[in-house]
Amino acid sequence: MPSTDQNASDDSAWMAKAIELAVEAKGTNPADTPIAALVVMDGKLVASGVNRTAECCDATAHAEIVALRAAGQAAGEMRVEGATLYSTLQPCGMCTMASIWAGVSRVVYGAGRDDVHEMYFEDRHLSTLDFIADAYKDDLTLTGGVRADECAPLYFHPWDDVPEDLQGND
Ligand SMILES: [Zn+2]
Repeated sequence: MPSTDQNASDDSAWMAKAIELAVEAKGTNPADTPIAALVVMDGKLVASGVNRTAECCDATAHAEIVALRAAGQAAGEMRVEGATLYSTLQPCGMCTMASIWAGVSRVVYGAGRDDVHEMYFEDRHLSTLDFIADAYKDDLTLTGGVRADECAPLYFHPWDDVPEDLQGND
């Protein structure tokens, strides 16, 4: 789906809601992983989620997965065909693939991998975006950088010296 002005203003408004949810649920300390995701279909909020990995002792409880699970429950089926997934942080490979399995057609994110510390991404050279562009281009559109300047401060900066025990990917 080509990006349009309407898309851009909707994206900005939904991202503002996602940021609000992240901060409301988890505050603004990067150590508390204030990441939030929304599933939106036909202009309506279907489900939302925040990162619950620490609370649930569940490595798969990323905000996007939590939101997609809730969306499936709300829809009464596993697929939310044509939905848009909003995330305050660029989704990892797991969440991007989950979006494909769930039938999401757009992923819109705030802060990108260059805006934050490398601990947030499991891959070194191949970005999930490249992978998707190569393998699934027709099925999933990715739009990044929406309110990135508001999302990025919720996470560790690229130059931060993040304590080992706070790093998820080592
Ligand atoms: Zn993820």
